[in-house]
Amino acid sequence: MDGASEFGFELRSCRWAEREWEPLKGGAVLVARQLGTKRRRWDTIVLECDPKGLRERARFGPDRLDGDLLDVVRHAPGEWAYYREALPHPGYPWRYVREAIHRAADREILETRKRGNRIEIRRKWPYPDWLRRVIAIENKPDLEASAARVLGDQLEHDVALALADEVWVATRKTGESVEPALLEDLPVQVGILALDPEELSAEVAWHPRTLSVAEPGTRIEERPTGGRGDSSAARFEYVPGEEKGETRLEIAERAYERGWRSYVDSMRPDCRHFELRPAGAGSELFRPHCTEKEREQTASECSGSCPGFEPEPPAWRGRGWPIEGGPGKGCRRLLEERRRRQRPDL
Ligand code: SF4
Repeated sequence: MDGASEFGFELRSCRWAEREWEPLKGGAVLVARQLGTKRRRWDTIVLECDPKGLRERARFGPDRLDGDLLDVVRHAPGEWAYYREALPHPGYPWRYVREAIHRAADREILETRKRGNRIEIRRKWPYPDWLRRVIAIENKPDLEASAARVLGDQLEHDVALALADEVWVATRKTGESVEPALLEDLPVQVGILALDPEELSAEVAWHPRTLSVAEPGTRIEERPTGGRGDSSAARFEYVPGEEKGETRLEIAERAYERGWRSYVDSMRPDCRHFELRPAGAGSELFRPHCTEKEREQTASECSGSCPGFEPEPPAWRGRGWPIEGGPGKGCRRLLEERRRRQRPDL
């Protein structure tokens, strides 16, 4: 595979999930990459969505609603009311709520009016219950013992906190009777997916356990190394189920905005060597390709500090470039169109 890198594997894993993932209760699927919390970022995120709710979510526009906006639009009343009486106390100064109200009004997702000194609000639409389940996938094409140890530690944190409904590791399919990943010391609650990145097909080598997202989770802050003479205690804290629910929705909103094709935003499609190429004959997956390096480049090396970076000639810009050979706007447009197709009614 030309894109033997983890990045290339990750894009294929996202595309596979978009095409093949079967939600537990049916419905729609959204896929994003490199999202999570401040402490933990997952490679691939699959959202299982209620189709009607997902269509209704589109009324709020393609951009994410952050935590402050969510607090406002989810609690905004159906009839005009003074915002301090309509919304629950935020637990922080009201001026931040006012700021969020103004942002919501600017985005035309909330109605506001002034009565004397008072700002009154009224919702335009109820915020829908569109998110059903969150699936986190770590992509490790080549799971060697040392990588498995590090990953096993991270996965234990994921299982203890139970922010995602399921946690998976996607690894390159070897075709052996027992996939090597099964022999590594990974938590038994974590599923293992053997993915063939060329064929974009996968087999479940180990089924995951569904985690209790509505229950309090355990955030492991520190754990003893377990070496001889190490008698220190582990440090952890409980995270209420309600707080996890808020975090899940904020992650889902970011995933809704970004999808997984937004990798191009952190690369340099305006470099003359940047191309998007189909991953195979007739493939619907477009992957980045660098004509300077003559291979699939990673997102981190394709940046302004890349020694091979050369701006695209201005004459290329207005020509509506085809997929191959056309950096810049054409690439962005193509990926953006595909991203939008995954979010109905936008
Ligand atoms: S030369 Fe560098 S910046 Fe240009 S496409 Fe290749 S990796 Fe990206």
